[in-house]
Amino acid sequence: MMAAWSDNIRKVEPYVPGEQPKDTNVIKLNTNENPYGPSPRVAEVIQNPDLLRLYPDPTASQLVDVIAEYHGVDSSQVFVGVGSDDVLAMSFLTFFNSDKPILFPDITYSFYDVWAELFRIPYERPALDENFRLVKEDYYRENGGVVFPNPNAPTGIYENLANVEDIISHNGDSIVIVDEAYIDFGGKSALELIDKYDNLVVVRTFSKSRSMAGLRIGYAISNPILIKALNDVKYSYNSYTMNRPSIIMGTESVKDDAYFKAMVAKVVATRTRFVESIRPLGFTCLESSANFVFATHENIPAKEIFEAAKKAHIYVRYFDKPRIDNYLRISIGTDEEMDKFVEFLTGYVQSIQ
Ligand SMILES: *Cc1c(COP(=O)(O)O)cnc(C)c1O
Repeated sequence: MMAAWSDNIRKVEPYVPGEQPKDTNVIKLNTNENPYGPSPRVAEVIQNPDLLRLYPDPTASQLVDVIAEYHGVDSSQVFVGVGSDDVLAMSFLTFFNSDKPILFPDITYSFYDVWAELFRIPYERPALDENFRLVKEDYYRENGGVVFPNPNAPTGIYENLANVEDIISHNGDSIVIVDEAYIDFGGKSALELIDKYDNLVVVRTFSKSRSMAGLRIGYAISNPILIKALNDVKYSYNSYTMNRPSIIMGTESVKDDAYFKAMVAKVVATRTRFVESIRPLGFTCLESSANFVFATHENIPAKEIFEAAKKAHIYVRYFDKPRIDNYLRISIGTDEEMDKFVEFLTGYVQSIQ
């Protein structure tokens, strides 16, 4: 017989992140990390051991201020958290408390349904169209909130700002969260709409474009009322969420804009080069505005390519889910890494046909 307390345990099916292999001798193109390190100014911070002795500033004000200045907003419009996953989870908890379902696309970041389940938020997932584009009219119905990434994951497709604004303006009665984890790699940000709409929250991360996935830094930009609501929830939960190295290194990263822009440009150039080099092999990629591409082959199943690549010590991401189970999500590494992957694919495709 099951113990009586088993009924009182929260049962959730957790998010499954991409594999982090222990073997360092692999080409790792599976979790959208940036192949280039963060700014050299970030590394200089680590030299100071005193860094770890003191408690962090619970408001992380140094980092908040530098992000606010970077985006030309007030510090009262910035919330920081331990990765954008933390910021998004806090946002779900803070903003999605209606009995009506929240809305997000059927194909999207696979953490959204996990948080909805965890926090017991009802949700519906309007289907993307046959070209994996958002159908904006699907978001006109009554709802308890809206969340979507732009560019979307795992497709990499950017939705133009007019459509994003259309969704925001049709949802004046609920909060709309635009998750811009990949916006630095392409597309216009919804940040320019922040002062125009009081229901908009834009979420960003240092993990992808800023090469700092290991530190865990994310942030939200909105109006002071919504940011205060987020902080009130956060301080009711855990006040010292951001550690001192993250606050200081994050600040240094934002200050070195020239380095940041140069590394993003390198990734974007490699993305174009990679897409062109796998096309002759029979691959089609959705148009990507991110640091990854979503690719399918004309006759070899994605799952087989995924497994063969893994045997060759090249890790990409495969989702065994409806509509996308014949696609590979391939993160953009260095030119050298991508060349090695193309070399593998060339040999593999030849060996099959
Ligand atoms: C990677 C990613 C995140 C989470 O990033 P953090 O490392 O937690 O900052 C959030 N949303 C999307 C769409 C992502 O791809």
